[in-house]
Amino acid sequence: MAWFSTPKAKDKNFNEDIWLSCPKCKKHIFKESWLQDHKVCPACGHHGKLTAWERIGITLDEGTFTELNSNIKPSDPLHFNDAKGSYKDKAAATREKTGLNESVVTGIGKINGIPVSIAVMDFRFLGGSLSSGTGEKILRAANYAYEKSVPLIIFSASGGARMHEGILSLMQMAKTCAGVARLNDRDIPFISVLTDPTTGGVSASYAMVGDLNLAEPGALIAFAGRRVIEETIKQKLPDDFQTAEYLVEHGFIDKIVHRKEMKNTLSQILSFYNR
Ligand SMILES: [Zn+2]
Repeated sequence: MAWFSTPKAKDKNFNEDIWLSCPKCKKHIFKESWLQDHKVCPACGHHGKLTAWERIGITLDEGTFTELNSNIKPSDPLHFNDAKGSYKDKAAATREKTGLNESVVTGIGKINGIPVSIAVMDFRFLGGSLSSGTGEKILRAANYAYEKSVPLIIFSASGGARMHEGILSLMQMAKTCAGVARLNDRDIPFISVLTDPTTGGVSASYAMVGDLNLAEPGALIAFAGRRVIEETIKQKLPDDFQTAEYLVEHGFIDKIVHRKEMKNTLSQILSFYNR
């Protein structure tokens, strides 16, 4: 039997325990195959979203990861409320649902034996938004890299600044950039990996200032959304605008790396820096 088949709308035999529909090509694929390939579609190569812990599992050597600063949680300095309720309640519900305290997991570990400080964002946590807590964790990951002279790796996945924290969220853009810029003083490499999606305040700060900026295939990478830009400049944008492929072509991203190649690519790059 093929690993995937053409979709049949309203197929009564579609068992969601066994099959799933690819979010991009819509072909039905074996769930087991999708998971074995770390959520990459065997039909079209679409890279699905990984949780922070899934990403850590496929990037770091088994048993080497130690989480740091896991106690940092969202604060609610503005006592923000909107029509759907309070930020405080929403953050508490998200923490309960995801098992995370913030939109990024940070810590130390090894990639093919090379020690690194690593930060991995999780889009499930309020759209991977950049909050004061997220910014603080990114800064501390950069500070650890600086103090211990180990490379810094950040995997980004974010819808941008967390609106519930207003200007305090935007301030994290400068704070995190200052933290990673300091690594230059000691020639410590910072590799940024942009995954789908990396947008808004994260794409406009630390995600784009790596010594090398890598991206996963097909990732949406943008500051403002397509519609906003088209309405502002009154022009139609190319179909592949804001994709990783478009940004490589135009010099914003250094390399696109398939998920199955990511760990070895990172270790090759880090070995080069270690010479
Ligand atoms: Zn597909």
